[in-house]
Amino acid sequence: NFYKTNPTKEKLNNLSIEETHQNNAASVGSSRNSENAEPIVSTDNLPGTSQAPAQTVASTLSASLPQQQQNPTFRIRSRTAAINEHLASQSENFESLDYDVCENVLFQKEQERISSTRFSLRKDILRWIIFIQIGIITALIACAIDIVIEELSSLKYEFLKHSVDINVPHQDNPVGDLAIPYLYWLGLSMLPVALGAAMVTYIEPITAGSGIPQVKSYLNGVKVPRIVRIKTLAVKSIGVITSVVGGLAGGKEGPMIHAGAVVAAGISQGKSTTFVKDFRIFKAFRDDHEKRDFVLGGAAAGVAAAFGSPIGGMLFSLEEAASFWNQNLIWRTLVASIISSFTLNIVLSAYHGLGDFTFTGLFNLGKFEQPLTFEYYELPIFMIFGITGGLLGALWNMLNTKINKFRSRFIKFKFGKVMEAVLVALIGVSLACTMIYFINDCRPLGNDPTDYPTQLFCEDNEYNAVAALWFQTPEATVRSLFHDPPGSHKILSLTLFTLIYFLLSCFTFGLNVSLGVFIPTALVGAAWGRLVAMVAYYVFPTAAFLNPGKYALIGAAANLGGVLRMTISLTVILMETTGIETSFFFPLIITLISAKWVGDYFNEGIYDIQVKVNHVPMLPWEPLPHYMGLKASNIMSSPVVCIKLRDKSKYIYDILNRYKHNGFPVVDDVEGNDRSKGRVCGIILRSQLIVILLKSLYEEKKRFWINETSIQTFRDVYPRYPSIDNVRMHDDKVNYTVNLDIFMNPSPVCSREHDSVQKIFNKFRALGLRHLIVVDKENRVSGIITRKDFLYK
Ligand code: ATP
Repeated sequence: NFYKTNPTKEKLNNLSIEETHQNNAASVGSSRNSENAEPIVSTDNLPGTSQAPAQTVASTLSASLPQQQQNPTFRIRSRTAAINEHLASQSENFESLDYDVCENVLFQKEQERISSTRFSLRKDILRWIIFIQIGIITALIACAIDIVIEELSSLKYEFLKHSVDINVPHQDNPVGDLAIPYLYWLGLSMLPVALGAAMVTYIEPITAGSGIPQVKSYLNGVKVPRIVRIKTLAVKSIGVITSVVGGLAGGKEGPMIHAGAVVAAGISQGKSTTFVKDFRIFKAFRDDHEKRDFVLGGAAAGVAAAFGSPIGGMLFSLEEAASFWNQNLIWRTLVASIISSFTLNIVLSAYHGLGDFTFTGLFNLGKFEQPLTFEYYELPIFMIFGITGGLLGALWNMLNTKINKFRSRFIKFKFGKVMEAVLVALIGVSLACTMIYFINDCRPLGNDPTDYPTQLFCEDNEYNAVAALWFQTPEATVRSLFHDPPGSHKILSLTLFTLIYFLLSCFTFGLNVSLGVFIPTALVGAAWGRLVAMVAYYVFPTAAFLNPGKYALIGAAANLGGVLRMTISLTVILMETTGIETSFFFPLIITLISAKWVGDYFNEGIYDIQVKVNHVPMLPWEPLPHYMGLKASNIMSSPVVCIKLRDKSKYIYDILNRYKHNGFPVVDDVEGNDRSKGRVCGIILRSQLIVILLKSLYEEKKRFWINETSIQTFRDVYPRYPSIDNVRMHDDKVNYTVNLDIFMNPSPVCSREHDSVQKIFNKFRALGLRHLIVVDKENRVSGIITRKDFLYK
């Protein structure tokens, strides 16, 4: 929808091909094929397109244009070209992963060895063992985070309740001083939030937010820097504890998914680059392809631990995260999820001293005592809930994006980012206190589900229902809204609570703290869902079907669908976390689909918006609409920087210094020195070339290294490959020859110039490619295509 046709884009599309090309020539990366048309991306409604910098680029560009080019049409084109250039340069920090296995001679030798022995079976067993370990360790981390949050939160709210009780005006203390608990509350919120925000800001900024957009990008094939490091996991875990204990409007579920991904990436590699420790195990899994599969299992295990939903975990990975699937992977992912959920259940049940295993996940929404039923005439009501959720979700996403743009423009200093988080904590506590102070919503003690019933100004044997909403973690409040008996809240208190939480969560997501968006979204939905049921019951007192708990659940589903735009996995997660019957699947899915369709009309889900805001070059499921009808020749880069099958070390060294590209076609049958038109024999990666130069794997010295060099030589430096700056090209080495025969990937994926973009996009996405070489009918290089060419041309 961000690429929906708009008037500006239509104008742009009507421009002549040649004119358009002239302006885009300065665009992404290398030089372009001048005969070919280049489409223009209208980024006018791109979320995260920072208009100001783009406009600056555009105005600088048009200022330098000759007079005849100062007409309106030309200016539009210039601006578009400038925006493309700006977006492409923003995305330059992101490299791609190689899902396509490099089947070079060294790899084939290893395969021969494996197939001739029992290695293959051994590798398979090891793979299963790793997936099981991922499940167990992810669950243990989830348990540790949960227990710390629970203990610290109960200490905090018990203390605050006690402070309110002794400072509220009563007979023995007629004046009282409610400022004291207010100040305590402020301190107990601002301090942990400041600590968490400082850690995220100063130690590891990638841990800000939920982590799901980053994991999604990684699984899509984008190498997001530092996303799967141990340091990231440590900061994320402490960050999420401090934010939840500080009472920010967020939850721990998103960060758990990120934690699962880090665990998977760490365990599967059998080494820690942070601690410079190589355990010399799992060496065969040291490549992007294997690692990405494990990360997928880790993300699923994280969902399973967070929601106690193993099937939901696997479906989440399928629906939201994974770009590539096969049957074996589904099995392994499911097993990791089941193990994770089971381990969490055992540990938390043991911790809480329960005989029966009831703690299936961190996100415990409680089981509905009565089976949830529905009448067929309620189906339109569920749809209306879904539509409302879609509208509110789209509004939330739009507001949140605008707030985050404002942030990135005006809050640049690190200290300012920490202070902003503290300010939001302060505002949250102040709003909650004002609400508790001014709204007199007293309910009789007895069947209250809250852990800390606070009397405040209520009569004896009564508790303040507003305080009950705020004096607990957001997750416990969702549980209360689902299960509180009818008549537990006033319409006014729920209305204000919904409004405040809607805005608070909108301001919170995007702060420099580790927090997920799932719980606040479910909470806002549960609050308005329950509110609507209460108002409807007030108007139609005979309508017995208006069970507030049931409509709180439907409201939560609608709001989640509107913000996140997930359907299948969300339905299953909600069913597994509340233990409702399968017959209620229908109302949930109707609500979620309506919410998604309506929301999709206005904007994308919040995770996708975040991906775009950060300029991550993530490939969509389909090519962008304006690429339709184009050919490979329209989007490829040409001339291509190529390397000869046997080339001089100095040439390779110079190329690597001069160009930032990560892949180079390997060619032979070169006319003169023009390698760019050579006949394709393979492709070689920058990382491989650096290893070759560093280890002096020259043809002339072959007899010294040939026996010691294997595929393992390259895996040993994975994933943090040395840079070309580490290579010293001494004079005695300049004339050595590098023979790429055994190192290059001899079967690169190629396409013809006239192949449609749709076709090459499908190839690119299905195979998880990083580079696609375009060849002519004699198999000579015509151009090269990378993922950025599908996004910024
Ligand atoms: P990635 O960053 O995805 O890991 P990469 O660094 O090789 O791969 P990109 O940064 O995506 O490539 O490429 C930027 C631009 O350079 C793209 O337009 C691409 O077509 C072009 N390009 C990539 N490799 C070459 C090459 N060897 N010769 C010429 N142009 C190239």
